[in-house]
Amino acid sequence: MDKKGFFGNWGGAYIPEVLYQTFQELQKEYDRCRQDPAFWEEYLNLMSTYSCRPTPLTHAENLSNYFGGAQIYIKREDLNHTGAHKANNVMGQGLLVKRMGKKRVIAETGAGQHGMATATMAAKFGLECTIYMGEEDVLRQRPNVFWMEKMGATVIPVKDGSRTLKDAINEAFRDWVTNVDDTHYVFGTACGPAPFPEMVSWFQSIIGIEAAEQIIKYHGKMPAKIYACVGGGSNAMGIFKRFLDEKDVELIGVEAGGHGIDSGSHAIRLNCPDASPGVAQGYKTMFLQDEDGQMKHTHSVAAGLDYVGVSPILSDLWEKKQVRFESATDNEVMQALDLTMKKEGIIPALESSHAFAGAFREVGKLSPDDAIIINQSGRGDKDIFTIAHAFADPSWKKFIIDRGKEYSSK
Ligand SMILES: *Cc1c(COP(=O)(O)O)cnc(C)c1O
Repeated sequence: MDKKGFFGNWGGAYIPEVLYQTFQELQKEYDRCRQDPAFWEEYLNLMSTYSCRPTPLTHAENLSNYFGGAQIYIKREDLNHTGAHKANNVMGQGLLVKRMGKKRVIAETGAGQHGMATATMAAKFGLECTIYMGEEDVLRQRPNVFWMEKMGATVIPVKDGSRTLKDAINEAFRDWVTNVDDTHYVFGTACGPAPFPEMVSWFQSIIGIEAAEQIIKYHGKMPAKIYACVGGGSNAMGIFKRFLDEKDVELIGVEAGGHGIDSGSHAIRLNCPDASPGVAQGYKTMFLQDEDGQMKHTHSVAAGLDYVGVSPILSDLWEKKQVRFESATDNEVMQALDLTMKKEGIIPALESSHAFAGAFREVGKLSPDDAIIINQSGRGDKDIFTIAHAFADPSWKKFIIDRGKEYSSK
């Protein structure tokens, strides 16, 4: 990152004047933390006692034998507290908030996972917490809203625009501008104005640091390839960062192909004619936008991947060809998920299943002496409604209808 927060042509901090002071303060505190080994120690201690770090690296022997190519290893971020890599980021920012002496946190959330993680952190650290969520998402994600409220957070439904994630981000920025003195905005992914992309990637980099050590221990050498799904890009940056200088390790980001690249119903921002460079939400990156800069509708079976922008760090790595980008359609993702459950007894989140789908396409072409790592960003329990519906499971349908009847009769 350069002095103005750019990664090559991407990133920056396009922020309103009133936030300037706060961003300076945040940047300074972040720099201080990076230079203080005691901070990282405190972070590791917190993550090993409150979450599940180090997370295991699992050798997927059945899947490896099934494809007959490279050895498949799975980095188990699903075993974190709240079920995904998101804990790495929010707990890190929580420690930062404590150092800055702020009393209140706000966050945006789409599917509710980042809101859940932030509400968890706020409860643990005794902070006041407000979560902005598109009204549409509040309706679709009731279970997460329920838990956030139970943990003491206030969830505010956002009625603007398409009433989804990008509208929630705009509303959270509005709150921040009004309450800068006592409030920190816990940004959920490696996007937004500097220093967020780099700071979030730094907290997530623990994934790759552990994975490098583990793969050497189990496999004796570096992996040939590493796969991660890409929404905003934080779990991908988290596992990629450690390996960026390892010239023999290929890094592959898998975006949400939705109904296919030609359908106009996807969230592919890199290698896609529907996307172009733009400045929005405080930073410059590849956005899915029309010629007037209006954001397009996105779709993915995985709610955590349907964001219009992508990490400016990944736009830079894409441009420099240091990371290869692929996409997987909803259908491919469901097949990859099905196979992983049957062969390994592991239920990846729909988001993570994109990385599995990307890897399954190619792993058969590699030698059994090689290894690949798939970053399993989260667990799939949260997706039971979507997965059961997609598999058209008749008993599940009956269960939902019966429960509905039971409630309405009381
Ligand atoms: C939120 C989420 C993602 C997408 O976020 P990134 O910043 O792209 O990592 C991916 N997987 C899971 C399980 C998530 O909850």
